[in-house]
Amino acid sequence: MRSKKIDPSPSNGSGQKTFAIIFDAGDRVVEGLKSFAVEQGLAASHFTAIGAFKDVLLAYFDCDKKEYQKIPVHEQLEVLSLVGDITIKDGTPNIHAHVVLGKRDSSTCGGHLMEAEVRPTLEVILTESPAHLERRFDQAAGLPLISI
Ligand code: ZN
Repeated sequence: MRSKKIDPSPSNGSGQKTFAIIFDAGDRVVEGLKSFAVEQGLAASHFTAIGAFKDVLLAYFDCDKKEYQKIPVHEQLEVLSLVGDITIKDGTPNIHAHVVLGKRDSSTCGGHLMEAEVRPTLEVILTESPAHLERRFDQAAGLPLISI
């Protein structure tokens, strides 16, 4: 995984920072983004990405059971759209991402992204805001939700 800050001057005055993060074959996305967030001290970011995966673990949140149903997909897939945010949960960066994936026959699948292995590349554009966003566990939802 390689990264570059792509707005090196604070000229826009907003305090935002934007990075291009390039994952290579074999890299694990959620793990990589979490390490990057820790290194850079990210606490309120959003990102988008396109590329391809060879293996992915999706999840579907069952609102009645209040738990994630895991859905492994073991095939080469186009990452048609990956969107997510980075917030702070229990003092450390938390990655929350959803993805739509394209199959060889052009059908799609998608869900909450638990983890994925890249093949051959994933191009992530990430913007960090100067404010911090924190997640707190919500009893009713059964999930850690962003607290504003
Ligand atoms: Zn989710």
